[in-house]
Amino acid sequence: MPAKNKAVFLDRDGVLNQEMGDYVRRLEDFHILDNFEALKTLQDRGYLLLVATNQGGLAKGWYTEEELGKMHSLLKQTYREHGVEITDFFYCPHHPLFTGDCDCRKPKPGLLLQGIAKYDIDPAQSYFIGDRERDVEAGTAAGVKGILIDSDQPISTVLHQIA
Ligand SMILES: [Mg+2]
Ligand SMILES: [Zn+2]
Repeated sequence: MPAKNKAVFLDRDGVLNQEMGDYVRRLEDFHILDNFEALKTLQDRGYLLLVATNQGGLAKGWYTEEELGKMHSLLKQTYREHGVEITDFFYCPHHPLFTGDCDCRKPKPGLLLQGIAKYDIDPAQSYFIGDRERDVEAGTAAGVKGILIDSDQPISTVLHQIA
């Protein structure tokens, strides 16, 4: 059997783009952070790069899936121009006050489990970089090592924690 893949899961706001204090609602407010070299390094080490993000703003009607798609296209395209391929985006469109509970809103591990299943990933060789305790909790629940950073902290500062 071929070896399983390994991945670095990435939270979105505060990791790939600037944390704005709440869900980013407009494309104009979406500011991509310069983590190009660090993510290129992880890619070169053989990791798939997968985004896992809570988007409860969808449940609240603050923006549409189409607008969210534009932000993610911009993110994917900008990183691609710097030689970094973001393989996929997993997002939770729910919010407990609007849509009830779900299995994917972090700290639940659902988004990571989706990625693990879709890309045949070995969680024991994989990581989740996030700027909230709930990211680390979701990682732990999925069997992935969580790495907590400060919001907008460069990913280059935690590369040494990743094999
Ligand atoms: Mg975040
Ligand atoms: Zn959900």
